[in-house]
Amino acid sequence: MTWHVLGAGSLGSLWAIRLARAGDAVCLILRNSTRLSAYQAAGGLRLREDGQLIFQPIPAELPDATTPIRRLLVACKAYDVEAAVASVASRLAPHCDILLLQNGLGSQQAVAERWPQTRCIFVSSTEGAYRQGDFDVVFAGQGQNWLGDPRDTTPPTWLGALAAAGIAHQWSEDILARLWRKLALNCAINPLTVLYDCRNGGLLAHRTEVLALCDELGVLLRVNGQPDAAVDLAQDVLRVIEATATNYSSMYQDVAAGRRTEVSYLLGYACASAARLGVVLPALTALRQRLADHLSHRGLPTD
Ligand code: NAP
Repeated sequence: MTWHVLGAGSLGSLWAIRLARAGDAVCLILRNSTRLSAYQAAGGLRLREDGQLIFQPIPAELPDATTPIRRLLVACKAYDVEAAVASVASRLAPHCDILLLQNGLGSQQAVAERWPQTRCIFVSSTEGAYRQGDFDVVFAGQGQNWLGDPRDTTPPTWLGALAAAGIAHQWSEDILARLWRKLALNCAINPLTVLYDCRNGGLLAHRTEVLALCDELGVLLRVNGQPDAAVDLAQDVLRVIEATATNYSSMYQDVAAGRRTEVSYLLGYACASAARLGVVLPALTALRQRLADHLSHRGLPTD
């Protein structure tokens, strides 16, 4: 069974290289012929970890290749996912497994609803990787990958392949709770680091504001049927701020680099779900507006 990897960026390369190194069949799907030519010129993927360089000449193809896809790993940004999966939709075998690596919520459900004949496995990853060049990725932080399927809690038979490839993972019977909790942590931390232009630890000077957001996020989780994800949220947020005090949040890094953020799948998703449920959350709503103003002032998309 071939792992088709859609999106050869940071996480896609990290997964592809580890699977290929373990002897699994892997094939990258690149968005167009320009990117395919650039990949062919590079000759393969490079991964750097602890000063070691691993090179893997993994085959690559375009979305319109004709081989059927039985296992698809989607590693694009959340805002690119639906179009990317649509570009290979005609190749998806019935009952194909689709692993969705995106942060936040919304993009995974969109795929699951649009391609109901597939099995969509949502992944919440705490691993860290970044691109230092085209097809050249640094594995910056060990972590865990939680996998789960909100529609079917039976684990897939291929989890052993992840273990054999050294990909830290655990099957979760409640992946939505994990994704909601991570979304809430992100909403309490990332937008404020952008607005205050600070590392995560800088938010300790804005503790009252952070705690007010946590109160509203707790309400949001409960009205969305995720009471477990709301337990001790504020303590966890403060713990993360302290443990990652010297780090810049992913949203901060995106804005600093002039890249589009995934805000629609994080704070935007939170505010949209509150509105849909008729719950008024003034601090989160004001934060969303301040962030949108900041992004548009910098010439970045607000969605
Ligand atoms: P990334 O480095 O920007 O990689 C995204 C890749 O998707 C790029 O290579 C891009 O192609 C490709 N792509 C976009 N549209 C495509 C299409 N239609 N067809 C084929 N390829 C397409 O992003 P990332 O950091 O890996 O993040 C991916 C997701 O994982 C995000 O939701 C992120 O929040 C989540 N995540 C990331 C990390 C991390 O440490 N990086 C950790 C946890 C979660 P081009 O190269 O042509 O632009």
